Amino acid sequence: MQAHADTLRLFFALPCPPEQAAAIAQWRDGQLPSGRKVVPENFHLTLAFLGAQPATRLEALKHLAAAIEAPSFELKLDGLIALGKGFVCLRPQSPPAALLQLATSLGQALGAQGIVLDSRPFLPHLTLARQAELPPHCTPPTFSWAADRFVLYLSENTRDGVRYRELGSWPLAGAEAAG
Ligand code: ATP
Ligand code: MG
Repeated sequence: MQAHADTLRLFFALPCPPEQAAAIAQWRDGQLPSGRKVVPENFHLTLAFLGAQPATRLEALKHLAAAIEAPSFELKLDGLIALGKGFVCLRPQSPPAALLQLATSLGQALGAQGIVLDSRPFLPHLTLARQAELPPHCTPPTFSWAADRFVLYLSENTRDGVRYRELGSWPLAGAEAAG
């Protein structure tokens, strides 16, 4: 459904760097026989889903994000999981404390602005395909990268399917260039 013009469909997420996205997509294409594959440009790990928000709220959201202090960490996606109605996803088998803390901090800051997140527990995952089946006995290689920034994304429906546009990016501490 198309959001009303003065509302934006927003979420905070960790982007998947292009090299890892290409490697993940290549592995995925060799494993999943069916399903609607997520394009590698869209690979991400959602930290907080805000849903439709008034465009007038954007500046406050950027301030909120800039005030988050959280360390960078190594994100290892070493597990596979089927979620919901046929989502096949990579996930960290043991999510780093820094990842859970980042999602919690965002949730608390959003809550303080009256934005209430989904009540389901945070389940970190990167969606590979929808309407797909998890192949039996399939274990992924470990894909990993340094999570050194988080992003506010605008989710847009286009003729080619959903696309995410980066509206802002904030470094995780330890990620700044030394100097
Ligand atoms: P589409 O819904 O058009 O098929 P999509 O699911 O990729 O595409 P969005 O629905 O905008 O795009 O979702 C963006 C991100 O937020 C995805 O990672 C999605 O899993 C997550 N998300 C969507 N709805 C919720 C929700 N209610 N609670 C938590 N996360 C959500
Ligand atoms: Mg969706």
